[in-house]
Amino acid sequence: MKSSPPHTLIEDMERIVGKKYVSAHIFERIKSSLDTFPYEAERDSLPYVVVMPGSREEISGIMRYANNSEIPVFIRGSGTSFIGAARYHVPGIVLNTHRLNAIELSEDYGYFECGPGCICASVEEALKKRGFFLPAAPGSRLVASMGGIISNNTSAHIVDTSIGKPGDYVLGVEAVLPTGEIIETGTKGLRRPAGTDLTKFFVGGDGLLGIITKIRMRLVPQFERAYGIAVYKDLESVAKGVQRMYMERRSAPLFMEFMEEKVAKIGYDLKGLQPPGGAVVLFVTNADSKEEAARKADQILLSLEAEHPVEAQRIEDTLLWEKLWSAREVIGSFLMQQSGNQWASAEVVSNLKDLPGCLNEAANFNKGLPTLSQLTCYLFGHIGGLTMHPGVIIPKDWSNEKKRKAIDEKFQREEELNLRYGTCGGEWGQFSKRTSFFVNRYGEKGYEIVKAMKKVIDPNNILNTGVLEGYQ
Ligand SMILES: Cc1cc2nc3c(=O)[nH]c(=O)nc-3n(C[C@H](O)[C@H](O)[C@H](O)COP(=O)(O)OP(=O)(O)OC[C@H]3O[C@@H](n4cnc5c(N)ncnc54)[C@H](O)[C@@H]3O)c2cc1C
Repeated sequence: MKSSPPHTLIEDMERIVGKKYVSAHIFERIKSSLDTFPYEAERDSLPYVVVMPGSREEISGIMRYANNSEIPVFIRGSGTSFIGAARYHVPGIVLNTHRLNAIELSEDYGYFECGPGCICASVEEALKKRGFFLPAAPGSRLVASMGGIISNNTSAHIVDTSIGKPGDYVLGVEAVLPTGEIIETGTKGLRRPAGTDLTKFFVGGDGLLGIITKIRMRLVPQFERAYGIAVYKDLESVAKGVQRMYMERRSAPLFMEFMEEKVAKIGYDLKGLQPPGGAVVLFVTNADSKEEAARKADQILLSLEAEHPVEAQRIEDTLLWEKLWSAREVIGSFLMQQSGNQWASAEVVSNLKDLPGCLNEAANFNKGLPTLSQLTCYLFGHIGGLTMHPGVIIPKDWSNEKKRKAIDEKFQREEELNLRYGTCGGEWGQFSKRTSFFVNRYGEKGYEIVKAMKKVIDPNNILNTGVLEGYQ
């Protein structure tokens, strides 16, 4: 890696993407290096320049230049990563993908194609208008880019055991390699390749091996849905109800969310609802007909009822359902807004057998930790996917150093729990602040394999430098 960039870097970038799409303004450089972490950007690692290419050819030009000059390039969707993948630790070029935002539905082929810079909610909307469903539903849908979602392969709120991950629907991608070559993977057919499929290097690839410039996904028809709720006095019953649902072989719900009582009260209050009187589980079933969706919901309720809820029923009043669902949906954004973006949560994932113990540990996530135990822990998550998001509001007046310490503690505790339960993060990606987890979970050899793959495709380690190495 060269210690300083060519002095003509800005003009060279302007030549490739046009003057209008290059900024070396200090505000842009700071803005483009911040993520969801509560501490400030470091002067020494601010990017040199932010570029917004409008085509794959321009991206190829940037990568060839950067590779020859050995300058790091950071792919930036919307910078909402929760694991530090959008926090850069060496200076370089930030490549913002938002101009690659075309979306095209090809019903005659049975797929749609979109650019990585499309916002998740706009893709969702474009598909919905034509009767289709986007198989990814992050809480950040109003801001997160499709490139960010596909490179993380996050189904987010969707229960994986119901319809799988977005990657299961990606037929192929177009990508620019760190050395500038443009490649296409996969198929235009509706059957994904068997055997070796280069698509897999990019889908869920943590942005290590290339820049996705086009995503092709199978069209999924909208489902009919039914809605249900269960309220429990204690978290153990929540966990046992979900275990029963799986063990009694119910058809997995499309969504199944939960909020501990304290969090549910906040959400209910925001939506003008009476406090629920316990921890809340909300679920959505999907099917081809309303009757079938309702039947599936009734079956799930049979399992949930066996663990003695205060209340368990199907919700048919859609207005009430919308209020209940948004009481859960609003929590993340509310806590972020309340704290001025100082909200920090973890991703604790259980295996099925140990769910009651793991849920209890998630509820006590910050206990005994030197910094985090000073704060209140809030718990909610995607219980159908056995995922819990314990979180805290980091006080704004804490020093930068103390905030860093709090974030480090959060990742260490998350690592300890996910190692104990033999799981891994199923949403936010595997490296940056999680590199140590990856090494401990999959061993030095597993880590060596990923490093070796990166070395072959990115010999100068210029793409998303530092993400694979991780940092404390
Ligand atoms: C309020 C809030 C709620 C959230 N809720 C959820 C949730 O429910 N589930 C969930 O999983 N996450 C959630 N997140 C985290 C985050 O929004 C997601 O991980 C999202 O996928 C990141 O998208 P992004 O556009 O911000 O990507 P960025 O943060 O910009 O990038 C993330 C990673 O993707 C890589 N990348 C981006 N574009 C490309 C590309 N074109 N080619 C290759 N690599 C690329 C980047 O290099 C980086 O490594 C939430 C975040 C917030 C702030």
